[in-house]
Amino acid sequence: TTIEDWIRSDVYHNSFLIPQDPILEGTLKNSAANGLPDIAVSTSQGKFLNLQARSIQAKRILEVGTLGGYSTIWLGRALPDDGELITLEVDEKHARVAEENLSDAGLSSKCKVILGPGYESMRNLSSENKFDLIFIDADKPSNLKYYTEAKRLVRKGGVIIVDNVVRFGRVADPEESSPNIEGVRQLLQYMKGDKVVDATTIATVGQKGYDGFIYAIRN
Ligand code: SAM
Repeated sequence: TTIEDWIRSDVYHNSFLIPQDPILEGTLKNSAANGLPDIAVSTSQGKFLNLQARSIQAKRILEVGTLGGYSTIWLGRALPDDGELITLEVDEKHARVAEENLSDAGLSSKCKVILGPGYESMRNLSSENKFDLIFIDADKPSNLKYYTEAKRLVRKGGVIIVDNVVRFGRVADPEESSPNIEGVRQLLQYMKGDKVVDATTIATVGQKGYDGFIYAIRN
């Protein structure tokens, strides 16, 4: 099987389960037109995030790594009227494009982009107002820092999802080493002894190739 087969497979499944969506297509178009990299979650992954948030009736969501707001929109749409999403982005242009896209999606009042380094922004958030779901998808070498802050900020029973932890299986390949891969390994090493969180990795294959995410619940 080639990547083309997996693109075809995602397109096939999506054609039954996920209606065409001019708003989300517009988000990707506007992001590309502004020169943002094509590294948002896939359509089926975005829908999966939306379903996860709805299945725990999330009212407060935190995202680290906004890009153009594609995953933000999927998550933001899962919120009830009085729900809130905060998304953290270090790149000024990404944040601006995300704000445009969130506005086009009618989500500006529920979804707030905070510009600045994600770790510092997380540190500035109070743990008094906990989150139901935290999605970590920023610079991968900082995974462990984001994860420790996420534990402080997520409610008991809340969910932490970390994207891009499989990386074509390279994370498990002893011959491979790069800051992104080491960022995942560090996180796994830490999680091994962590009694506060219960987790599993789900490997995925689709239009973005072979990857996967960690799904964790705070005890
Ligand atoms: N979650 C987005 C989606 O699926 O639509 C994709 C996010 S993209 C993979 C990673 C983003 O994290 C980029 O926009 C990048 O600028 C941002 N980023 C990188 N380093 C960061 C940092 N230190 N703090 C906050 N965001 C950061």
